[in-house]
Amino acid sequence: MSLLGLPSSSRNLLVVVSVSVASLVALGIVAFGGSSSSYGSRKRQSSKRRQSKKRRPHVYLRGLYNLGNTCFLNSTLQSLASVASFNIYVKNCVASLAENNNIVKYSVDANIAIQLNNVLDLLAPQPRRVAAHSPRALINSLGHKGRWIVSRNEQDAQELFQMLSSTLQTVFRQTETSLFDAGFLAKNTPVENRIITISRRTSCCPIAIVDQQNLSNPQEDVNPGNVVSQGPSSDNPLLGMAASRIACVKCGYTAAIRHFTFDNLSLAVPHVTNTTIEDCLAMYTAIDQLDDFKCRLCTLTVTLEQTQADILRHKSNLERVGSTPKKVKREEAVIFKLCNQQKLLQDALVNDPDTELEGVHMASLPPGISTKQTMIARTPKILMLHLSRSIYMANGVSAKNPASVRLQRLLDISPFTTTGHISTSASKPISGPSVPVNMYSSKSLAEVRRRNCLYRLCAVVIHSGAHDSGHFYAYRRVVELNTGDDYVDTEALLAETAQWFLVSDISSTEVSLDTVLNAGNGYLLFYERV
Ligand SMILES: [Zn+2]
Repeated sequence: MSLLGLPSSSRNLLVVVSVSVASLVALGIVAFGGSSSSYGSRKRQSSKRRQSKKRRPHVYLRGLYNLGNTCFLNSTLQSLASVASFNIYVKNCVASLAENNNIVKYSVDANIAIQLNNVLDLLAPQPRRVAAHSPRALINSLGHKGRWIVSRNEQDAQELFQMLSSTLQTVFRQTETSLFDAGFLAKNTPVENRIITISRRTSCCPIAIVDQQNLSNPQEDVNPGNVVSQGPSSDNPLLGMAASRIACVKCGYTAAIRHFTFDNLSLAVPHVTNTTIEDCLAMYTAIDQLDDFKCRLCTLTVTLEQTQADILRHKSNLERVGSTPKKVKREEAVIFKLCNQQKLLQDALVNDPDTELEGVHMASLPPGISTKQTMIARTPKILMLHLSRSIYMANGVSAKNPASVRLQRLLDISPFTTTGHISTSASKPISGPSVPVNMYSSKSLAEVRRRNCLYRLCAVVIHSGAHDSGHFYAYRRVVELNTGDDYVDTEALLAETAQWFLVSDISSTEVSLDTVLNAGNGYLLFYERV
């Protein structure tokens, strides 16, 4: 499978997998365990285990058959199976269908949710070796949704994730709508469909917020700069909210701070040999300069200046034509109209520059320079990061950005979030700066957790190979059997106690955490807030 969705031959696929695993073995960074360990490696592992305080039980993962270029689907499903809150979300979705007696439960979307739930159940860690599963039923259910999977050669892992996310939200919305729960409907407006505008005079606390989708409850996000876990996204663990601001460099005017929900963030990867996930997030939230901005405040100011110059000109005309009553009347009418216009412009400049001014012919200004910045305003329970690796050349040819991106097991995203104080200055960040956190101190971790900004890596979808060929596989974090919901205190977060597995279609192999963090070619990253 390619990053652009072009098909690859299964021969390519086998070569890529065997090469990547073989090279990891050669480097001595694959710790074989579970189903694939030889007698020798098992013996070495046993001695290591005796040294550790607690003996790890064998855990087995079920593989998924590749039904023809379906590695993008297999790797995404394996990853999602390791995200605890996603599994709960899908279960709740299916439960909402079971409680529902209307036609919704027979819809295409409902069938996808049910089939997804079945597969996720099968992908849970097992105490003994289990046969691989064919995801045929799920693929068939996807086939009924538009052109999905019918043309699966054109799909990729990120598109699949987005489709599953929107499907689950649709099912929730349909089941709740059938129960006439308007409140739930308001809370679950589809992704990208919610725009909250804030009055420009909001440097510290917003004066007016208009949620265009939910006018009946405009106070819902009265403090949009805060990173909070409650609110419209609390039911859907995938939904977060971002704040985006465009500001004029010349006059500092901020048109509006737009808020929009997201279920994943697509991050550009810098064109370098080595980089980090923090660098990619910093690029996403950096202040960009745009050169095509039509500033409303600058336009109003210039129009007011022109109006005032016109008034002076017509007043001197009036003195000149003082002896001609007809001309005097005409000049007085023009001056009266211009004075009204002057008042409208002055009011708009003081009170609300975005007010529509009827009958006022606005000055035409050339586009100016503005800054644009987007930051995370509300953190989601599940943070899915897509590393965009497509490079488009001037001649239209696309290629893959091979930059190696080092991951963090524990990720502090507070430097990339708004912190409750929204700045409207064009040259300053929307919010911040954040205090750097020592990720090895439980006290610092506790502070980041309190701000809802601490995430733990659960799974990674890897794309290996070139842009137009290659293979998708996944690294999964697997919690020991019978440990419940994997809840940990801040102290315990400092040490990784879970096992990591490389899962590629039907095969699974235990790997070290370092292998995962240094894999470099991550494509989708699944982080869960802790
Ligand atoms: Zn301006």
